[in-house]
This record gives sequence, C-alpha cells and structure tokens, in this order.
Amino acid sequence: MTAGPPTIGHWRAGGPWPGGAERCGDVHDPATGRVAAQVAFATGEEVSAVVAEAVAAGREWAATSLARRTAVLFAFREALVRRREDIAAVITSEHGKVLDDALGEVQRGLEVAEFACGAPHLLKGAFSDGVSSGVDVYSLRQPLGVVAVISPFNFPAMVPLWFVPIAIACGNAVVLKPSEKDPSASLLIAECWAEAGLPPGVFNVVQGDRVAVDALLEHPDVDSVSFVGSTPVARHVYETGTRHGKRVQALGGAKNHMIVLPDADLESAADAAVSAGFGSAGERCMAISVVVAVDPVADSLVPLIGSRIEGLRTGDGRRACDMGPLVTGAHRDKVRDYVDAGVAEGADLVADGRTVEPDGEDDGFWLGPTLFDRVRPGMSIYDEEIFGPVLSVVRVASYDEALELVNANPYGNGTAIFTGDGGAARRFQREVEVGMVGINVPIPVPMAYYSFGGWKASLFGDSHAHGVEGIHFFTRGKVVTARWPDPSTRHGIDLGFPQHT
Ligand code: NAD
Repeated sequence: MTAGPPTIGHWRAGGPWPGGAERCGDVHDPATGRVAAQVAFATGEEVSAVVAEAVAAGREWAATSLARRTAVLFAFREALVRRREDIAAVITSEHGKVLDDALGEVQRGLEVAEFACGAPHLLKGAFSDGVSSGVDVYSLRQPLGVVAVISPFNFPAMVPLWFVPIAIACGNAVVLKPSEKDPSASLLIAECWAEAGLPPGVFNVVQGDRVAVDALLEHPDVDSVSFVGSTPVARHVYETGTRHGKRVQALGGAKNHMIVLPDADLESAADAAVSAGFGSAGERCMAISVVVAVDPVADSLVPLIGSRIEGLRTGDGRRACDMGPLVTGAHRDKVRDYVDAGVAEGADLVADGRTVEPDGEDDGFWLGPTLFDRVRPGMSIYDEEIFGPVLSVVRVASYDEALELVNANPYGNGTAIFTGDGGAARRFQREVEVGMVGINVPIPVPMAYYSFGGWKASLFGDSHAHGVEGIHFFTRGKVVTARWPDPSTRHGIDLGFPQHT
C-alpha cells in the first residue's frame, strides 16, 4: 500500500498541531499538477480553542516589557533571514512563482519585520506638562488583544508579514488563517517566531476555508481582522466583522492601469508593462493588467511589448524561467476562459498564451503571457479582474480620456503613468482616484514605513497596511489627565464643566 500525501496542520501553543482534520483540501504542486499534500481545515470549535489560548497568552505578552518584546522582534528578523531560502522554496512549490520572485516576496515581508523593530519609537505617546494648574495630560497606545489575519494565495509570506510583526510588536496575540492553496509558508514563519523566543500562544495558525474565516469573524474575543483577498470576500469580511463589533481592514481586488503618454521613453515603458503584467504570472494585486496608450503611442508600443513577450520563458519556477504556472488547474481554466472571451468579444489577440510550450511537466497549470490590443470597456477582459498573465491595451485619444477611464474603474489599488513631463505626472498624482501611484514605476508598492492600500472597491475600512497606520490599527489610544495632590492647593467642589485655567 502506498502512503497518501502528507497532511499540513496548524500551529498552536507554540508548536505544530494536527487538529482533527475532519475536512481537508488538496495542495498542488502547480508545476507538475500533482497533489503534493492535504491541508487540514479547522472547525469552528478548533478556532475557538485557539482563540481562547491566544487571549490568555496575549494578556501576558501585553504585560511584557517593551524592551523584551523588541528583543523578540529583532530575533525574529534574524530567524527570517536565516530561513528565507526555505520559505521561498516552499512558496515556489505550492504557489508556482519562480524562485527569485519568491525570494523577493520574503524580502518585502522582512522589511516589515525590520520596521516593527522600531515599535518602541512608534508607540511613544505625547505628554503635555501643566495644561492647567497642577494638571498634566498624556497619551498611551495599548494593544487590542487578539487579532486575526486572513491572507490570500498570491503572497503566502509577504501578506501575513504585512501585519503579524507589527501586531505582535504592539503587544497583541495573532491568529493567522492562511490561504488553503499554499499553507506551508505560514508554518515556517511560525517556526521563526518560536526560534525567536516568542511565548507559546502569541502567534497561532489555523488552516482552513470559509468555516475558519467565519468562526474568526464572529468570535467575541477576536478584536480585529486584517483581511487580504478578492473584493467579494473582502466585502463579506468587512460587513460581518464590523457587525460583530470588530475593527476591520479588508483589502480587496484590483485592476491596475498604466498610462503611457506620447513623450514617454517607450522602450522603458514596454519593459515595465511586461515586468508588471507577467511577473508572478499576473497573480499580483499590483500587477498591471491594462496599458492605456495615449495616441499615437499604441502603434509603436504594442510591437515592443509583443517582441519582449516572445523572449519570456514559461516553466517550472525551480528552473531558469521568467514565469511559472498558475496556482491551480481551476484558476488556470478560468483565466483561459477570459482569453477565449476576449477573442470572442473582438479584441486583437497579439500574443496567445494558450499555445505556450512550457519548460515543465505536461500536467502543470500552464498558461503563457497573453497580450490583447484594442480592448474596450464592456469587454469582460477589461471589466473584470482576471488575476493571470493577460495584459490588455486600451487606446485613448488624450490624457483626459485616460484619466477618466482610470477614475471610472470600480477598483483603485495601484496605477502608473509613464511620461517625460513632470507637470503631467504631477497633475496625474493629484487627479487620479487610486491609493498607490507610480511615476515611471510600474509596481508602486510602498516601503514598509509607508502604508499599503487602495481606494474604492480595493479596500474596505479606514486603515491601510503597515507603516504608521499599521501601528494605529493594532493599538487603541488612551489619554490620561492627571493631577497629583498638592497639600498647598485645594480646589473644593465645582459642578461646572471642567475648564483649564
Ligand atoms: P480569496 O478572496 O479567494 O481568498 C482570500 C482568503 O479568504 C483566503 O484565506 C480564503 O481561504 C478566504 N476565503 C475565500 N472565500 C471565502 C469566503 N467565501 N468566505 C470567507 N473566507 C473566504 O482571494 P485569493 O484568490 O486567495 O487571492 C487573490 C485575490 O486577492 C485577488 O482578488 C487579488 O487582487 C487580491 N489581493 C489583494 C491585495 C491587496 O493588497 N489589495 C493583495 C493580494 C491579493
């Protein structure tokens, strides 16, 4: 009898925990198409048990000195550096992105851990001496308690790391629910926390699907939810979480436009469009999916993009390739259906990823880079988030028409403008209704000490991820007004509203 695939479990009480594994999901190796493992799906009761332990561990952690907490953060940063190749390898084997790209993802997550090492400075309050006779006022920031993080498949390390180190530095306990498609990176991150000396129960992982998510959203002892994923689920998470009295930040989907003006350096613009359109097989929330070519740019730009696509190697991310497979067979089929729809709807198919010859096994979830020209609003390839290696070119007559197109889109995650005109770029950065803007930069992902987040249907809630907004999201403010008795002054009774004199 041959053994079945291994089962990936949870992380509880400072170590791995198999759970009951009553229900499981398949985890694929996208480059071979084989089921590499099963992942246990937590039940509502299992989630509750983990939350209860996190409440107790979180209380002790919140009472731990800032010096001790910061020492653990620094040690976590070192552990991540030591384990980054292991984490990248596991991402490539479950997500499919090429190894270099996976390493880049870990690096961007690591930068948030480095930012969180500065929490003592960021948690400092203000102090006003003598606001009234003998009265001082000062402010504190205190942890929330237990915070939930729910992450998508496309960044199995970076997205959890956008939130977890900051939440822990602020004195919270965390329950992470990773994507069921690529659950293993979360467990390596958990090992890094254990190596760093984080007390058991402060960082926990529950694997699962919507059952685990809904259990977290409805649990009375979960104080906040940080979600990243598609817009319909983000809306559900925001509405359910806030209805249950939680603080929620829910980052959703995207349709990112890159405007190319006639005065742009077209060679650089073509490089940028290909890098940002097909990196990670287009499975990035900051991928460029639409190039908006302002007349007469398209006639020159489309052939430049097309010739670059011809040089891209699609294949197993463990080999020397530019682009890996899609995450699952179902997702590949969905993206391929969009390509069929684009053809049927009358867009010009310039490069057809359906005919790709990958450097990998036949059963991998392959789809090569695909380029459409003369795409218009109303076509499904324009209107919907595809989340795959499909780049559309929309031709417009002017800057104003380009801006109108971007601002009419329901999403507002990222955008970019390519131009040699500083005035046009400055006008764009002020006029565009999008949260993250690139000027001659195609994927404007902010550094860890700024905050990441979109507008409109790309984010529900008030706070963006990491940076100072992250510190604020994971803490509650408190203001203290203090007077210490001074035997030389006595105020007596005064029923009037307090005024400072
Ligand atoms: P998804 O919405 O399918 O899943 C995200 C998480 O929600 C997963 O943990 C999943 O298990 C859970 N989930 C799925 N369906 C659910 C349901 N019905 N109820 C409760 N929970 C549910 O997203 P995905 O396919 O994993 O990731 C891709 C999406 O994420 C894209 O839309 C992409 O744009 C978006 N994304 C956005 C950002 C951003 O910063 N705005 C970053 C990365 C990814």
